[in-house]
Amino acid sequence: MICENLGVNNLGHLTFAGVDTVELCEKYGTPLYVMDENRIRHNMRVYTGAMAKYFGENAGCLYASKACSFKRLYEIAREEGFGTDVVSSGEVYTALKAGFDLKKAFFHSNNKTDEDIAFAIDSGIGYFVCDNIEEVNAISEIATAKGVTQNILLRLTPGIDPHTYEAVNTGKVDSKFGSAIETNQAYEITKMTLSLPGIKLCGFHCHVGSQIFDSEIYMRSAEIMLSFIARVRNELGFTAEILDLGGGYGVRYIEANPYIDIDKNIKELAAFMKNTVSQLGIPMPTVYLEPGRSIVADAGITLYTAGTVKKIPGYKNYVSIDGGMADNPRYALYGSYYTVVDASRMNAECDMLCTLAGRCCESGDLIQENIRLPGDIKRGEKIAVLTTGAYNYSMSSNYNRLGKPPVVMIKDKEDYVAVKRETLEDIIRNDV
Ligand SMILES: *Cc1c(COP(=O)(O)O)cnc(C)c1O
Repeated sequence: MICENLGVNNLGHLTFAGVDTVELCEKYGTPLYVMDENRIRHNMRVYTGAMAKYFGENAGCLYASKACSFKRLYEIAREEGFGTDVVSSGEVYTALKAGFDLKKAFFHSNNKTDEDIAFAIDSGIGYFVCDNIEEVNAISEIATAKGVTQNILLRLTPGIDPHTYEAVNTGKVDSKFGSAIETNQAYEITKMTLSLPGIKLCGFHCHVGSQIFDSEIYMRSAEIMLSFIARVRNELGFTAEILDLGGGYGVRYIEANPYIDIDKNIKELAAFMKNTVSQLGIPMPTVYLEPGRSIVADAGITLYTAGTVKKIPGYKNYVSIDGGMADNPRYALYGSYYTVVDASRMNAECDMLCTLAGRCCESGDLIQENIRLPGDIKRGEKIAVLTTGAYNYSMSSNYNRLGKPPVVMIKDKEDYVAVKRETLEDIIRNDV
């Protein structure tokens, strides 16, 4: 199986984190997000362990909470010594309510509103990662009016195409994110930032994309960023304290995706960066990484109940489920791959090529095409979509007035509710 927290028990049921998934469906109903707390902690420890081992004291890990954000996750991140990335007042508020120390929070996004900025400053946000000069100006004004000095980083685009999907490509020069080094805008914005009141420039950030398997990409972007740091140190007399290299390490959605050894990648990156800073004659900045997907993706699955099985002879077979794009829009958005299994009958022969269709009134509401399930699959059987811990719950909607599924966490084989199921009353909560 694609992750070691998956298994099959003697009833032929899928197990996840050592728990029978069919029993979970009976206990909590479907659709159901299930998350493996031990796996989240394990994934976090791989990062914190490697960063401490290879970069030493001067390094840190930030959980990119947009991958999956609810109170319990900020508690886990805090307990594991992670900082966090947030991108909205909603994420700031959730972190705050979870008792997260916002000094360790970095506020991203390409367009922070004045309200976001004011709210985050009032909440004691550690850093803003500014995307462009308008944003730097806005933060400078708001911080000055509040009589505070706000720490910021500047988001730069190193100009790297990480050869992944276009839609999640963010390090290229023409990206909507950041200021490009190549066009000299990065240099100009740095110069302007250094002259503004109410803000303290602490360093630079980049994020070249997502679902990256090639560690070369991080070395190349680190090299470009460190060269830029050397240039502004020489020409502007500014020494960056922080270099944040973003997130993006890939995960296994399907068997064809490779295993990625994060520890080894970080080891190579650290050795490369130590060599680069000594060649450039600059001090090593504090290095941050911001994993999101690689922390939570394989710590999550989604469980559904099969409904209509529609066979269109000579054309296509559909298996419909009681969820869909409202709880997982990723296939509809950008054709993401997933592994789909019949959780009720893991040992049955998967002899039917089919499409897993959602229940929303939208023909694009598919979870996956060209998958294999048992040809005699029946209404009522439980279907599991694997590796859904990232960008599923956090991207979910109430389309068709569907209530969002709950998130059930498993810790040491014990299940508990981390997010409740939305009720019909929740659906009309704001209707007047
Ligand atoms: C999305 C994002 C991340 C996390 O990316 P993953 O692919 O989930 O690891 C990190 N940093 C920034 C700025 C992001 O936008």
